[in-house]
Amino acid sequence: MNFETKCLHAGYTPKNGESRVVPISQTTTFRYDSTEEIGKLFDLEAAGYFYTRLANPTTDAVEQKIAALEGGVGALCTSSGQSAIFFALLNIVESGDHIISSSAIYGGAFNLLGHTFKKLGVDVTFVDQTLPLSELTKEVRPNTRAIFAETIANPALLVLDIDKFAALAKEADVPLIIDNTFATPYFCRPIEHGADIVVHSTTKYLDGHAVQTGGVIVDSGKFNWQNGKFPQLSEPDVTYHGLVYTDVFGEAAYITKARVQLMRDIGATPSPQNSFLLNLGIETLAVRMDRHYENALAVAHYLEKQPLVKKIMFPGLPSDPNYALAQKYLPNGLSGVISFEVGDDRETAGKWLDALKLVSLEVHVADIRTCALHPATSTHRQLSEKELVEAGISPGLIRLSCGIESVDDIIADLEQAFRTLEG
Ligand SMILES: *Cc1c(COP(=O)(O)O)cnc(C)c1O
Repeated sequence: MNFETKCLHAGYTPKNGESRVVPISQTTTFRYDSTEEIGKLFDLEAAGYFYTRLANPTTDAVEQKIAALEGGVGALCTSSGQSAIFFALLNIVESGDHIISSSAIYGGAFNLLGHTFKKLGVDVTFVDQTLPLSELTKEVRPNTRAIFAETIANPALLVLDIDKFAALAKEADVPLIIDNTFATPYFCRPIEHGADIVVHSTTKYLDGHAVQTGGVIVDSGKFNWQNGKFPQLSEPDVTYHGLVYTDVFGEAAYITKARVQLMRDIGATPSPQNSFLLNLGIETLAVRMDRHYENALAVAHYLEKQPLVKKIMFPGLPSDPNYALAQKYLPNGLSGVISFEVGDDRETAGKWLDALKLVSLEVHVADIRTCALHPATSTHRQLSEKELVEAGISPGLIRLSCGIESVDDIIADLEQAFRTLEG
């Protein structure tokens, strides 16, 4: 099946007379005929559903679909993007270990790694992802256990040189974990470039309609966990009578452990209703992404010509420093997100945003409706002017997420807002 077809048909094949659309199994539990059968499920000797915290048919269908789209051997849905990143790392790191992460990552992920993981005894080194491989490898330590980065960084819109990061991970002999939220598997499949694990906030483009919060982890099945660095996977788990994940589950060892151990113990489970909505969103992913990109490119070209726009970050523009990387890893398109500066103070940017009518002010991206955000007065409100500059957020910075409306209507709205600034 080609990508567009998988969006509709992967993960669920109804049998004769069954529901055409993935049904919502709105149930916490499942009935069995014998204690023996339930015992086998608990010992992981048989596959089946027994409690929705661990697995549910609706969620299972969407997991299989996402695994097919990213080219992985399995996937695990979580209740948010944050919990997907947390589980993806916690599955293989513990107190005393070390992670290397790009510093150009989502603010929530930055806090999770830099503060929460630190509290758990896991050290994190944030690196400038544009440094050459020879510089990056200097950060590898004997206790390094994972490399983390985003395909298209939110909100800086840097494009990752995935080959370079895959080489760094190879050098360290640890997995490369990529947050592919902004690119989506339609525009980039990091596993094809050497990533071992892919995560998403499904809250964004995979859902696309701003109706559910969720996350997903996809396992490529390609990493060799038996290299002596991952005893969690290659040595007995006492909580399953000494089962060894790599022996019993082979290439699906990582994703199986994340489910049967972390989801069992921590339980960031998506609701079946949300999995249904997520699946519905993914069905149209391919057509939506083409339109998001097409609109964003036209808006970026329009913004480039505006005298009040000081700087624009959109790797689809040939003038963008990330254009060459975008051409290499995302030849067919990018997300609908553009970052740009209107004026050079909070007031000018704020006035422009307040004048928008069709485009709404929201703390969100990747919705089918165009929305905008002013980091200096919202997500980064508490920072001083100096701290804002250090964080790469100028007072006039605006993050615009282009939706799939008529691009003429989007541009007309931006245009009338510029006119109000002319006074
Ligand atoms: C939004 C986002 C997250 C966090 O996801 P939630 O679903 O909000 O928890 C993580 N990574 C990226 C790139 C995001 O845009």
